[in-house]
Amino acid sequence: MSITLSDVLAGCRAIGQTLCLAVFCSMATAQVVLESPSVNDPQRTEPVEPFKIMDDLYFVGARLHLPSYLFTTPEGHILIDTTFDELVPEIVTNIETLGFSVEDIKLMLASHAHHDHVGGHASMREISGAMTLATAADADVIESGGKTDFRDRGLWTPAVVDRIIEDGEQVRLGNRVLTAHLTPGHTKGCTTWTTVVEEQGEQYDLAIVCGFRLNTNERLVGNPDFTDMPQQFAWSFARLKVLPVDVFLGVHGYWFDLKEKREQLLSGSDTNPFIDPDGYQQAIRFWEDAYLDRLRQELSAGE
Ligand SMILES: [Zn+2]
Repeated sequence: MSITLSDVLAGCRAIGQTLCLAVFCSMATAQVVLESPSVNDPQRTEPVEPFKIMDDLYFVGARLHLPSYLFTTPEGHILIDTTFDELVPEIVTNIETLGFSVEDIKLMLASHAHHDHVGGHASMREISGAMTLATAADADVIESGGKTDFRDRGLWTPAVVDRIIEDGEQVRLGNRVLTAHLTPGHTKGCTTWTTVVEEQGEQYDLAIVCGFRLNTNERLVGNPDFTDMPQQFAWSFARLKVLPVDVFLGVHGYWFDLKEKREQLLSGSDTNPFIDPDGYQQAIRFWEDAYLDRLRQELSAGE
């Protein structure tokens, strides 16, 4: 990766933070509006039949709003995100409905350490016997059940993290290789996962993007428990923009039109709707704009 955090920080120091961010701002033109479904929306409340996305990747999340992803291999399976503890039985059922065994999950990964993504880690680790991997910054929060997060968020059952992964590390199981990309901001250890998938003889770069969303009631600038949050977000947006991504997935369905793409896929679309490089770039621009708007508000309010 050619862009490093120190590059961004050095650039910001050199030209001043406000000007630096104005440069980022000029690069961002939102073309989509991504709205979180309301609390009563079926995407949050209704169970979802599991389905194959492509290659050996399956959607096993209990809700469209709360994805969990299963990569299967002849040597066992990899599960990314367990969502809420109370949804674990439904995830287990989804995996079994597809004909796979939960006991064959060998590795459990996380997008980030929030209750709606790792709340079920402790239960799923116990049920499956899988090894849990996480970045150091998020592992601390997962193991505390959310108590050590820098914001006041929901808590969950603390879960053991068996191994710490580094930025850029490749996690291998069978024929599957997943690469961890640290994209901090939403959490300190937020991890975007990439791999290469195949469909009809073609290879595609796939990304499961970690949280690039600012939380509504959270202060971006001057957060005493995360003082470089603005720089970390800027670095992550810069990093995500240069990732080669054909197949765009994320950790909430509305980020990548999961509902519509699933319907297209199940209705027999000629091309797999999850191949969406433009949607990926549009989503980054949308969230970067939201970040910059907040930053401008907070900086101008502090003047
Ligand atoms: Zn989150």
